Amino acid sequence: METFDYVIIGSGSAGSVLTNRLSEDANTTVCVLEAGPRDWHPYIHLPAGFIKTFHMKSVNWAYQQEPGPYTGGRSIYAPRGKTLGGSSSINGHIYNRGQRQDFDTWAQMGNRGWGYADVLPYFKRLERRVGEGDETYRGRDGNLTVTTMDWKDTLCEAFMEGAVSLGIPKNPDYNGAVQEGVSYCQRTIQNGLRMSAAKAFLHPANKRQNVHVRTHAHVTNIIFEGKRAVGVRYLKGGRGGEPVEVRASKEVILSGGTYNSPQLLQLSGVGSPELLQSHGIEVRHALPGVGEGLQDHYAPRTVARVKNIRTINELRQGWHLWVEAMKWATTRRGLLSLSPTMVYCFWHSGETAESSDLQLTFTPASYKEGVQGTLEDEPGMTVTSWQQRPESRGYVRIRSSDPFQQPIIQTNYLTDELDRRVIVAGMKLARRLLKSAPLAPYYDYEDFPGPKVQSNEEFLAAATQRGTTTFHPGCTCRMGPANNNWAVVDDQLRVHGLQGLRVVDAAIMPRLISAHLNASTMMLADKASDLIRGKAAPEAVKLPEVAVA
Ligand SMILES: Cc1cc2nc3c(=O)[nH]c(=O)nc-3n(C[C@H](O)[C@H](O)[C@H](O)COP(=O)(O)OP(=O)(O)OC[C@H]3O[C@@H](n4cnc5c(N)ncnc54)[C@H](O)[C@@H]3O)c2cc1C
Repeated sequence: METFDYVIIGSGSAGSVLTNRLSEDANTTVCVLEAGPRDWHPYIHLPAGFIKTFHMKSVNWAYQQEPGPYTGGRSIYAPRGKTLGGSSSINGHIYNRGQRQDFDTWAQMGNRGWGYADVLPYFKRLERRVGEGDETYRGRDGNLTVTTMDWKDTLCEAFMEGAVSLGIPKNPDYNGAVQEGVSYCQRTIQNGLRMSAAKAFLHPANKRQNVHVRTHAHVTNIIFEGKRAVGVRYLKGGRGGEPVEVRASKEVILSGGTYNSPQLLQLSGVGSPELLQSHGIEVRHALPGVGEGLQDHYAPRTVARVKNIRTINELRQGWHLWVEAMKWATTRRGLLSLSPTMVYCFWHSGETAESSDLQLTFTPASYKEGVQGTLEDEPGMTVTSWQQRPESRGYVRIRSSDPFQQPIIQTNYLTDELDRRVIVAGMKLARRLLKSAPLAPYYDYEDFPGPKVQSNEEFLAAATQRGTTTFHPGCTCRMGPANNNWAVVDDQLRVHGLQGLRVVDAAIMPRLISAHLNASTMMLADKASDLIRGKAAPEAVKLPEVAVA
């Protein structure tokens, strides 16, 4: 049987960074197992290809969530990347780290070394920021190129002026000292092409002799000897494929993502004994927190019909699209180089005393049924609003002992009362932004939720009817001290009570952060690579005393 020092399950945002760092030492062997194919499909690399890979089952797990108490009986779609780069190969390319307070909260929950001053050096080490940024916060020498949206758009400019007219300031860098304010978004795009974690970290590492990347390798379980993880079993080619076992002489690292990492632990006998026994799985190690605590950002989209100007809805039709295709082919700019959202606005709901608890995005386009994936034909503009730090929590549980059956995903969106209040405040602010004076020449009427919606109850009903995920699930293998029965990993990301096994991906977040999750997932993987190698952490950044938003 083949043996490597490290076996990494999943080549996503976390797995790609880990592979790069752990293989820096030429004497260390690393095997990466990825259920999906290579990231060759052109739609992965073309920024606007997002809208195609969104439903493309060859590179997407394309999960469905369970209907929740506040989703109006709907099962919300949950795309996840299934290719080299994982979700970073199909995501919306937004680069957003979150606030200082998010990581300080992780540390306050008992996780040593995870405060903002400790994790900031990793954010900096990973990135090559092109554009504005204070050197205290931004890195210039990393592999991950971060640029700012370079499409100047009349509607976007008017939206930003509208925000300013409501007292929301412009912010040149929401990944700097202060998150609050409005600005064009920052993106993992370089020369009009997607900068996935695979492109930034995995492919350069794969040139090394000591790295072994295997695609179409669907891991079915972790192999244990007693309480020690010693290897993994996978099916070559997926369901019905040849079973293969590989050994890890040092560690098995689970980086399968928020839905699949807890699923694989449960399939391997690690989790709630009641759950495992109900599916006939022998309990290897009782750990009730596995799969529990799922959080995600839930977002209704407020849509207005537009007059006197063209929106993206029309620009992608007919001959316009040919013009845009030519523009992209010759200059790498234009419509096909765009991300699904273009302007970011962070602000207070007034419902919590904490720093900016609302995130709003603006796009000069609108989607059918408010779900990203299919643009509408008539001119439209959209403000998506969500609560940054939700309290509601759900779970991921295996449906059966079949590793190819998708797990039960119940996010329990809006079940906490605070979440309902903040989401309503966000929709009201979205309406005010769309009705602001600078947008007035282009604002025709509100299409959704529509002018009849006025009371808090009516706004909540609309959120229930049309809200959707922003694709940021986390927290299903939470990091915390052993005396918390929800904790799955310790602050070194080792699975409590087991040896030779870590979880390193978005699942370990103890609490959802005020951001999209790609940047922070790569950060935590970079930090994990130092913990695994026993390397000293970079010096913590000296930050101003006063907490900033
Ligand atoms: C549609 C979409 C849009 C998004 N937009 C943004 C955005 O604009 N900005 C942002 O910051 N974040 C965004 N995100 C979220 C962000 O991309 C993810 O949070 C992040 O990539 C998660 O990283 P991860 O390493 O935890 O998991 P992933 O990147 O999902 O990696 C998990 C990997 O493990 C593999 N795997 C799983 N199970 C197995 C198995 N059994 N055997 C072998 N391999 C397995 C998967 O195929 C995958 O490659 C978006 C996500 C999606 C899906």
